[in-house]
Amino acid sequence: DLSALLKSGFSSRVRSLYSGTGGPDPLFQPIGGMMQIPLAFQKVIGERIKLGAEVRSVSQTEDAVQVTYRDTTTGEEHREIADYCVCCLPMSVLKEIDITLSSDMAAAVNETGQSTSAKMGLQMRRRFWEEDDGIFGGHLWSRSLQLGEFSYPSNDYFSEKGVLLGYYGNGNQANLSDKSVQGRLDHVLTQASKVHPQIRDEFESAYSVWWEKVPYSLGAYGRTPGLALREQLSKPDGRIYLGSAGTGTRPAWLEGAIQAAWRTVETLHDRAMKG
Ligand SMILES: Cc1cc2nc3c(=O)[nH]c(=O)nc-3n(C[C@H](O)[C@H](O)[C@H](O)COP(=O)(O)OP(=O)(O)OC[C@H]3O[C@@H](n4cnc5c(N)ncnc54)[C@H](O)[C@@H]3O)c2cc1C
Repeated sequence: DLSALLKSGFSSRVRSLYSGTGGPDPLFQPIGGMMQIPLAFQKVIGERIKLGAEVRSVSQTEDAVQVTYRDTTTGEEHREIADYCVCCLPMSVLKEIDITLSSDMAAAVNETGQSTSAKMGLQMRRRFWEEDDGIFGGHLWSRSLQLGEFSYPSNDYFSEKGVLLGYYGNGNQANLSDKSVQGRLDHVLTQASKVHPQIRDEFESAYSVWWEKVPYSLGAYGRTPGLALREQLSKPDGRIYLGSAGTGTRPAWLEGAIQAAWRTVETLHDRAMKG
C-alpha cells in the first residue's frame, strides 16, 4: 500500500542516497572500518605521536605556548614549550580544560554543540537476517521502534556470526543515556524483536558507546557551526590555532578533520614564512 508507506514518515529517513545530503560524496567504506584511516596516518608519523598524554592546560604569552599534560600510565605531569600550538581537541573537551584564549574565541568555543549520538552493537551467533529473511546489508528505520538507525552488516555475508548495529541515534531517546548497559540492551532487544523475533535467541553479546559519557569525547561529532562562528574558530588566536573538525563545515566526517588540517597548515605556514 503506497499511501501507507508515504504516510509512515519513511521519506524523512531517505538520505545519503544522493549528493548534497551533508556527507562526502560519493561515500566509501574503508576495509576494516573508519578507524583504518587514522591508523594509516599513525603508520607514517607514528614516532612523532605521544600516546597516553592527557592535555591539562594550554597557555600562551606573546612569544610562546606552553602545554602541560599528564602521562596516563605514570601519572607524572610534563610540559612542552613551542612557538605555536595547533590544538585539535574536540570542542567539548576544549570547553573543559584550562586554555588561554581571547574572550571572542572562548565565547565561540562555548557556542559550539556536540551530537548526542550513541551506538550499540549486537553479536549474533547466526546471521538469521540473511539465512531466514534474505537481508544483505542496509538499514531498518522506524520512528516508533526508537532504535535510531538499525543496520545489517555489509561484510562477510554467509559467514558464521555477525554484528548488527542495533542502535545508532540520539543517546537520550527513551532515557537510554541514564540506563545501565543492561537496561539499554533490554530496550534494543525488545524493540528489535518486533521486527526480528529470532533476535533474543540468537543474541550472544553486545557493546554500547554513549559518546557523551566517554571522557576524551564528551559527545559524538560536533554540530556544524554557522558561517560567523566558523570564521571565528578558524582564525589564529595569538599563537594557538584550533585544528579540529569542529571548526569547519563537516564536523561529522573525517573529511572535516582533513579540511581543518589543510586550512591550519596553510595559515600557519604563511605566518611562519613571513617571520
Ligand atoms: C558515532 C560516530 C560515527 C562516525 N562515523 C563516521 C563515518 O562513518 N565517516 C566519517 O568520515 N566520519 C565519521 N565520524 C566522524 C569522525 O569520527 C570525526 O569527524 C573525526 O574523528 C573528527 O576528527 P578530529 O581530529 O577533529 O577529532 P577526533 O577524531 O575526535 O580526535 C580528537 C582526539 O583528541 C583526543 N583527546 C581528547 N581529550 C584529550 C586530552 N585532554 N588530551 C589529549 N588528547 C585528548 C581524543 O582521544 C581524540 O583522539 C563519526 C563520529 C562518531 C562519533
